Amino acid sequence: MTVFNIGKEGALHLDKQDPLAGYRKRFHLPPNKIYMDGNSLGLLSKDGEESLFKVLDQWKRLGIGGWLDKENPWFYYGEKLGGLQAPLVGAKQDEVIVTGSTTVNLHTLVGTFYQPRGSRTKILADELNFPSDIYALESQINIKNLDPAEHLVLIKSSESRLIEEKDIIASLENMGDEIALILLPSVYYRSGQLLDMELLTAKAHEQGILIGFDCSHSIGAVPHYFDRWGVDFALWCNYKHMNGGPGATASLFVNNIHFTKTPSLAGWWGYRKDRQFDMLLEFEQAYGAGGWQISSPQLLSTAPLEGSLRIFAEAGIDSVREKSLKLTSYLIYLLEEIGLTSTPYNYRVGTPREIKRRGGHVAVEHDNAASINKALKARGIIPDYRPPNIIRLAPIALYNTFHEVWQVVQSLKGIIDVKEHQKYENSRDTIA
Ligand SMILES: *Cc1c(COP(=O)(O)O)cnc(C)c1O
Repeated sequence: MTVFNIGKEGALHLDKQDPLAGYRKRFHLPPNKIYMDGNSLGLLSKDGEESLFKVLDQWKRLGIGGWLDKENPWFYYGEKLGGLQAPLVGAKQDEVIVTGSTTVNLHTLVGTFYQPRGSRTKILADELNFPSDIYALESQINIKNLDPAEHLVLIKSSESRLIEEKDIIASLENMGDEIALILLPSVYYRSGQLLDMELLTAKAHEQGILIGFDCSHSIGAVPHYFDRWGVDFALWCNYKHMNGGPGATASLFVNNIHFTKTPSLAGWWGYRKDRQFDMLLEFEQAYGAGGWQISSPQLLSTAPLEGSLRIFAEAGIDSVREKSLKLTSYLIYLLEEIGLTSTPYNYRVGTPREIKRRGGHVAVEHDNAASINKALKARGIIPDYRPPNIIRLAPIALYNTFHEVWQVVQSLKGIIDVKEHQKYENSRDTIA
């Protein structure tokens, strides 16, 4: 384990040595706040603002001409940004497309890849995934005229925190011939645990099972190597670590060995681009992940991603990962060394210590998490709260500092020292 200097000067020294420190000024930081919620809604970069203004300006100047504008044709925007995002997931350019929304992409991909046949009728997932994914899986099973109570198998967690790879592998080996598809998150939204996608893909394929991942919490924080690992499909959201803006257009990945599969939710935007405007009634699917597009791209919800992708290309995802791990390791180290994980503070770290099992955020657990979360906000610190007992802290490599992490830890201590949280009810607001 890395040893850190726990004093304020230690934090300032880490900031001075930080090779990514310069990126902070490329972002709009909420004034007088310490923003630790970039895993829920990433901040707007100046680059993203500029790419949004560029599209607005095209609309102003060109009207419908924007679709085929020479400089930035909207007609190919999903393909262009998919190609720019492909390096973040270790994919070929035509295997990634920026389109739709996270849950809709899950529907079309699971609809495509889940083909119950013979004894193989079940979907294997887990009980800690984001609820939207589970609702979508249930409805996909219903669409196939099967009963989710029987055909959706959820792997159990240990203490509602972690899902052990060995438990997933045991389910695979015990029920292999009953499972048609596996869908798992890459990083758990509560605990921040990162699954070993390479291992799980290999084990799924040994049993002849297709596997897909929801990478909403790992994209932009963790490097991925989908082609090397042989992942069949994946999807993710672009408003968390990707800083694409609230409700930003999402992305999906289809391994090119599956390009000949038919999208379950076809639409005209998945048509071969050169013939789309022939407007023929017979669907001719684009060859590539683009074939899974449904509708015209929401240009204004997509454009900030272009600027954001430029920043990722400059900084490099490996450097982002390296700093992210250093930030979260530092956070965990401070919590423990300052004594916050013992009485009278009683915080617990719900995130794995091993760096290869950690995504981009840290789950700090406490029996009074909801009220402490409110006290943090009153102090100008923006974390988020996930029931029943988690304060999520996401120090983001591109715009947070070690000094901010240090200040957050001092506040976690100070709030308990003066019982500041007791001013607030220990319950969540409508949006936590
Ligand atoms: C954030 C997130 C979503 C969000 O779904 P939307 O359709 O974009 O609202 C879905 N699944 C997971 C795992 C997420 O982390």
